[in-house]
Amino acid sequence: LARLWRACAVWGLLLALTACASTPQQASPDAPRLWQYATFSEFAAGGYAGTLPLSAVAASGDMGLGTVHGLDGEMIVLDGVIYRADASLALSRPTLDVATPFAQVVRFEPQARGNPAGVKSLAELTAWLDTHIPGDGFAAARIDVKDARLKIRSVPGFTPPYPTLEQALTRQRVKELEHASGTLVAVRGPKNHGGIWVPGWHMHFVSADKTTGGHVLDVAVDKGEARWMTMSRFELDLPPR
Ligand SMILES: [Zn+2]
Repeated sequence: LARLWRACAVWGLLLALTACASTPQQASPDAPRLWQYATFSEFAAGGYAGTLPLSAVAASGDMGLGTVHGLDGEMIVLDGVIYRADASLALSRPTLDVATPFAQVVRFEPQARGNPAGVKSLAELTAWLDTHIPGDGFAAARIDVKDARLKIRSVPGFTPPYPTLEQALTRQRVKELEHASGTLVAVRGPKNHGGIWVPGWHMHFVSADKTTGGHVLDVAVDKGEARWMTMSRFELDLPPR
């Protein structure tokens, strides 16, 4: 009987290995993916007219980044809730019929976690993330922080003719926060981006009390809890053209 069981086990293992070998890696439509609305290059050239309702963003993921019509603030999606940081860095919750010109979201299912400590700058934090998430592939992370020092920015909103993103950012408003608690929402794209996605790390902040937030320019944190996932798939929806 023992020999029979051994034989069964060996055949079972072989079958399992065959099944694994014949399954193309991460080709499943259910594999983790980054969903994005509009190409980054067209957005950054001044494509700020909102053409997709936020309801479609909410349907595509529960964590991510973006902006709203007219580049009127920074957008953060966290735990399925969409926030907008206005030029005073105050957060509000836009209604889902507000339109966006650019957004990136994932269905956040963390695969690993770690604790960044003694991080003194945004560059140090992204370096810490890169050592834990090797390579430069698509990744999404949330870093819950306490007692952090932050420099965040937002933008005041524009009307046509729209400036380029570079020009628009000369009008950014900056706020520095001390002893801040909240969550950093971060998305990484491969460096070789072809103008399609945002290369490297892009990070926004939502305070724990959901009153303050924006695009992260700098951050120092003694203790944090990071969770992250990597994505092998990228899905792009284009605005009407
Ligand atoms: Zn941003």
